[in-house]
Amino acid sequence: QRSCVWLRRDLRVLDNPALFDACQTSEAVVAVYVIPAAQWQEHHKSAIQADLIRRTLQHLQQELAQLNIELVVLQADSFDDQVALLSQCVNTWQIDGLFVSREYEVDEVARDKRLVQTLNDDIAIQWYDERCVIKPNAIVNGSGQPYKVFTPFSKAWLKQLQESGWQCLAKPQMLSGLMSDVDSSCLPLCSLKADDWPYPIDDSSAYAADGKTVLAQLRAFSAERAERYQADRDFPAIDGTSILSPYLAIGSLSAKQCLARLCHDHGAPWELADGARTWLTELIWREFYQHVMVAWPHVCKDKAFKPDYEDIPWANDEQLFQAWCRGETGYPLVDAAMRQLNETGWMHNRLRMIVASFLCKDLLIDWRWGERYFMTKLVDGDFAANNGGWQWAASTGTDAAPYFRIFNPETQSKRFDGQGRFIQQYLPQLQGVDTKLIHQASAGGHYLPAVVDHKERRQMCLALYQQSLNKE
Ligand code: FAD
Repeated sequence: QRSCVWLRRDLRVLDNPALFDACQTSEAVVAVYVIPAAQWQEHHKSAIQADLIRRTLQHLQQELAQLNIELVVLQADSFDDQVALLSQCVNTWQIDGLFVSREYEVDEVARDKRLVQTLNDDIAIQWYDERCVIKPNAIVNGSGQPYKVFTPFSKAWLKQLQESGWQCLAKPQMLSGLMSDVDSSCLPLCSLKADDWPYPIDDSSAYAADGKTVLAQLRAFSAERAERYQADRDFPAIDGTSILSPYLAIGSLSAKQCLARLCHDHGAPWELADGARTWLTELIWREFYQHVMVAWPHVCKDKAFKPDYEDIPWANDEQLFQAWCRGETGYPLVDAAMRQLNETGWMHNRLRMIVASFLCKDLLIDWRWGERYFMTKLVDGDFAANNGGWQWAASTGTDAAPYFRIFNPETQSKRFDGQGRFIQQYLPQLQGVDTKLIHQASAGGHYLPAVVDHKERRQMCLALYQQSLNKE
């Protein structure tokens, strides 16, 4: 048997079921990755994540070579072109079996349907669900429906895990030889060098691209910081969270690997102490949003999860939006957070909630503008988590809390960056400013004037939501 593994968001050799099975059942295996540049642009993929993928593929190419698997990297424009290319590969290389891990976003699902139609019954395609510990659609409530609210989902998730167990796969066995006759000469090969890469890139060297370092980061977090996670995770000046999201997003790490490490160090998922349990809850949030996206695919089409919240008459002031993007709103914590995003490609979760709430509820700008901007900047951009987070902040999503929960940027700043250490890291001009002033709009006159007045905007926001919800 000659097999091909189509790698997409499973860029790893460990715990990769498609790769594992291909190696178990085949004499020779080739792997392929196809960059759909125009599609990435349409999906607002950030240049920093594209660079992380590029560097990860460089390492993966070497790791796969050690298993006697060639990784062929190709370029395409759209998802349709990806399908055409895959079909060409299968025919040219005389492949008998294709091994693929599923992606769950609507365009990706539609592409995979086309792949099945295109390849017809010519070859067997094996599909794998590896993005979540428990696959979407597998957790339903008493009436057989998917959960809309996180807490009951999380309980059901744990129960199911306890009943069904889970398994992390080892590195596949090395194959006896390369598929030596792979002819790629007529295919649009893509170099993994920065200069030839077919998509804009931003330096991602602050993030690990090799599986070993990523795993070491997981191990270090689990052993040294998971215990303190509950206490530290909300304070952006503390190194309290794992920063594993970039790897989970592109699949150089799996959620099961995270779970396995946590359990290795701290015990069974249902017996964890506070710190480790809270971290597991975050991994379950990640699963929740994937499950929501599969159950309610309209969220992939720019729609509010709650249809009643579809027509909020946002003010959408372009200048205010630009001030927010640049981190020039005059609210120190909001601006420091946006600078963290713009400079590093990552932002602390507490800050994501604060800046998202500020965009929607203080600046009265459509959450979709922020969602898009985040995708263009985040190294960990992941549609389901990002959309879930933005809809949570805009109160249009799965959150049970009502729309009148509006974060006060000053109070949040005092609570979560009391000494102003995070603010000063990204806004060095505020070093030396009294901690009594540093949280205030315009830092009590030491900083840019505030673009809006929070109290005033809060009232406007409430009116906006009320007006839209009472329309019928
Ligand atoms: P840790 O605190 O160490 O958590 C471990 C892992 O759990 C994370 O790596 C992540 O995979 C997952 N996770 C944690 N919190 C959440 C959450 N609230 N929702 C879903 N998964 C979670 N996360 C992304 O991975 N990609 C995004 O594009 C993204 N956009 C967001 C947008 C907004 C507006 C908000 C409020 C949150 C967003 N998140 C996103 C969730 C969260 O902010 C990040 O996952 C987290 O900050 C990543 O840092 P970490 O790896 O140190 O997380």
